[in-house]
Amino acid sequence: MQEHAGNIVFIEDDPHIRKLVKGALEQEGFIVHEATSARAGIVEAGTRKPDLVILDLGLPDMDGKAVITELRSWSSVPIVILSARTQESEKVEALDAGADDYLVKPFGMPELLARMRAQLRRHARGAARDGSTGRYRLGEVLVDLPARSVSRNGEPLHLTQIEYRLLSTLLRDAGRVITHRQLLVAGWGPSHVDDHHYLRIYMQRLRQKLERDATQPVHIVTEIGVGYRLAEVAGE
Ligand code: CA
Repeated sequence: MQEHAGNIVFIEDDPHIRKLVKGALEQEGFIVHEATSARAGIVEAGTRKPDLVILDLGLPDMDGKAVITELRSWSSVPIVILSARTQESEKVEALDAGADDYLVKPFGMPELLARMRAQLRRHARGAARDGSTGRYRLGEVLVDLPARSVSRNGEPLHLTQIEYRLLSTLLRDAGRVITHRQLLVAGWGPSHVDDHHYLRIYMQRLRQKLERDATQPVHIVTEIGVGYRLAEVAGE
């Protein structure tokens, strides 16, 4: 018997996927509470005190975005969504509504477990954030949010206001997928949510400043058609 890895609410109407995922998670020491509809899932999430929710977007009774909006109205529990390839736009809406990560079906169990663990760690970090220094290291680059300074190997690195706003948005939620819309709002404001070309240009500039090799980014990771995710970040 493994130690208790966490309490999971798993909302999925497909019995085959449910069985497969539940078995794999239980083997890893998770306790899994299943729900086969959105309504039942919301009730489970409210009563089981889950550490994480796995949510299939293709449920019979409600659309995924509405489920997330409802969960987010009272809970900050990490939400990992499962989507079919045909639900591309719905997936982005789900992330905009506050989901933390997504997997496209069919997915491998190691991938699901890795994503879940990343979200559980991120959430634990968030809970401990009161003790955080606000300083982060990305390879050779040190970001000091309280001092509003960025340096590379001790040399000051100049970021424009917009670059800094984009970077601090990614940093505050390191490990989480931040959608194009969320980044555009953070960088330029809500009237620019469709200006995707701005974002492309600025993310490229940020990569040139922060990455060792901007053509092989390891920190600012592209989530195709969705947004960006900050990876390989350590607290100082
Ligand atoms: Ca489904």
